[in-house]
Amino acid sequence: MKAFTYERAKDPVGAARAVASQSGAKFLAGGTNLLDLMKLQIETPVHLVDVQDIGLDKIEPTADGGLRIGALVTNTDLASDRRVRRDYGVLSRAIVAGASGQLRNKATTAGNLLQRTRCPYFYDTNMPCNKRKPGSGCSAIGGFSRQLAVIGSSDHCIATNPSDMAVGLRVLDATVETVKPDGSTRAIPIAEFHPLPGDTPHIETVLTPGELITGVTLPKPIGGFHHYEKVRDRASYAFALVSVAAVIHKDGSGRVALGGVAHKPWRVEAAEAAMPRGAKDVAGRLLAGARPMPDNAFKIPLAERTLAAAIDQGKAA
Ligand SMILES: Cc1cc2nc3c(=O)[nH]c(=O)nc-3n(C[C@H](O)[C@H](O)[C@H](O)COP(=O)(O)OP(=O)(O)OC[C@H]3O[C@@H](n4cnc5c(N)ncnc54)[C@H](O)[C@@H]3O)c2cc1C
Ligand code: SF4
Repeated sequence: MKAFTYERAKDPVGAARAVASQSGAKFLAGGTNLLDLMKLQIETPVHLVDVQDIGLDKIEPTADGGLRIGALVTNTDLASDRRVRRDYGVLSRAIVAGASGQLRNKATTAGNLLQRTRCPYFYDTNMPCNKRKPGSGCSAIGGFSRQLAVIGSSDHCIATNPSDMAVGLRVLDATVETVKPDGSTRAIPIAEFHPLPGDTPHIETVLTPGELITGVTLPKPIGGFHHYEKVRDRASYAFALVSVAAVIHKDGSGRVALGGVAHKPWRVEAAEAAMPRGAKDVAGRLLAGARPMPDNAFKIPLAERTLAAAIDQGKAA
């Protein structure tokens, strides 16, 4: 690990200023992703600003009947919150499908949204990777791509976003709240938070330098049957090959988002009009324009079948 300096911020704007004032500084939350990447020298921050003491660890109701989740709320506390389990079950289930109990005790809401890809070549510093080293090439294209994206990818990167929680947030139309070093705030719809890779796969969010996530807001509950189905190589402690976050109503209408297939949680609102007609129609629209690799073409029928299982469960509930 490269040497770095460390400080504990006392408030959100102070944290944002501390990161913005030093090139190569980063926020540190639970550390479950960042510290691993630092040990491998994939991330080499010169200064860490620990945000554990800046508050932002509460889940509170909003004026319009939703919930505001502080950026530092742990994945365990969020998944087990009584209101989340009752009204936003898809989010609770998505979180519990990820990592392990110990990791979820440390991992935070903001850190989970910002965790980096699990593409094997991103972790292998001997191999070209445009995300790790812009302009160096993409080893996954023509390489081992079983885990990687089938849609929304580019000729520069076919990595997937590994977060389960983000797929649940996408289907719920969550909003990410931030504060900038000058104290100004903004609210970013989750749909716009993670860009597609294009020719800049190293840019993974729309955050600007020093911009701190302060929380995530959920709109008021939408009812329905909430389901998260994750298909993976091992029953636990593995990232999704394909996952489906679904909210399904009795009449067959609803919302769905896919994980494990793209650089971001994949939802196409227009595809949801086909929900009452069944999974084949929905999957066809959701994955229209998919460009799978030979290694991961299985994800297309797998997504359709996982979607069918979710829709069937919703109708039977
Ligand atoms: C073995 C293992 C298995 C895992 N399996 C899964 C899985 O199946 N599914 C899944 O979804 N996840 C999985 N994870 C990932 C885990 O969920 C993430 O590591 C965790 O959510 C990151 O949260 P953190 O608080 O520890 O982030 P950190 O590691 O502290 O930070 C991650 C990034 O977020 C930035 N950051 C943190 N807080 C803020 C903030 N408030 N504002 C702006 N930037 C911020 C940091 O600078 C850093 O770049 C796994 C991790 C491990 C180690
Ligand atoms: S898919 Fe993306 S992360 Fe993986 S090697 Fe290619 S550029 Fe790097």
